[in-house]
Amino acid sequence: MTQSQVRVRIAPSPTGAPHVGTAYIGLFNYVFARVHGGQCVIRIEDTDQARSERRYEEDILRSLRWVGLAWDEGPDRQSERLPVYREHVQQLLDSGAAYRCWCTPERLEAVRQQQRQDKAPMRYDGHCRYLTEAEAKAHGDQPSVVRLKVPEDGSTVVHDAFRDPITIEHGQIDDQVLLKSDGYPTYHLANVVDDHVMEISHVIRAEEWISSTPKHLMLYHAFGWAPPVFMHMPLLRNADRSKISKRKNPVSLRYYERQGYLPEALLNFLALMGWSMPDEREVFTLAEMIESFSFDRISLGGPVFDLQKLEWLNGMY
Ligand code: GLU
Ligand code: ZN
Repeated sequence: MTQSQVRVRIAPSPTGAPHVGTAYIGLFNYVFARVHGGQCVIRIEDTDQARSERRYEEDILRSLRWVGLAWDEGPDRQSERLPVYREHVQQLLDSGAAYRCWCTPERLEAVRQQQRQDKAPMRYDGHCRYLTEAEAKAHGDQPSVVRLKVPEDGSTVVHDAFRDPITIEHGQIDDQVLLKSDGYPTYHLANVVDDHVMEISHVIRAEEWISSTPKHLMLYHAFGWAPPVFMHMPLLRNADRSKISKRKNPVSLRYYERQGYLPEALLNFLALMGWSMPDEREVFTLAEMIESFSFDRISLGGPVFDLQKLEWLNGMY
């Protein structure tokens, strides 16, 4: 790999206050880019119109700066790139990799209820996938969503740089909505299109997205694109090992800022959540981390977020 090929991204959704997980994932993206002389792009994933707010975006960017993570490009807002997604969806419709679905919320709810009753897997029943051309035409301009046509047979294998290959049978995957009836893309479509268009080489993100990766790989396949390298970082966890939550830990970056924690100590702490120094030293700066970094020392064990440790580190600076 030549050095200039490394391009990573930090892709927060501005649907809430700046989250400590964003700094944690952002840190590993930033460090990886620096180590390889690459670029780190920031992308605002604001395709959920109901939940995204500009003030959250501003707070997230501010908090990333506070903690000391800079980016080389962006921020790019997905909400300002709608034509790009529509064009790509059209491509999938034309090639037959996707189809329009006119099912009403009432119909989808009825299907779900039936599946619940039958204790069948809850998923779209494929009604519109099998419409004849005439039936589809009859819907004319009625509002629709666009769904991915997941192959009925076969499987997709997820290759993650930190894990053994994971095989998912296509029969287990829903015909994912790609474009919503409001004309906005879903996370899955926008994420894949942008990672490709922005020439992202490595996707470093939280473990919770592994289950989405088969859908993403199907999209890469449908477009005829080579996927990036996927690296899913272990989740931050509460002491009881559940996913970090504000009921059990402060998760807002603003909290740490207000409490007077030093950003250097917070980054040091977040680094230790997923990685260790070759010499096991626990106190180190961002520059020292970059100097010694490689993903060989990632630990997947499911790090526990321990505020006492942060306190201790904070006292070391
Ligand atoms: N917008 C997603 C998030 O907030 C990004 C997931 C990804 O990196 O693909 O976690
Ligand atoms: Zn339908």
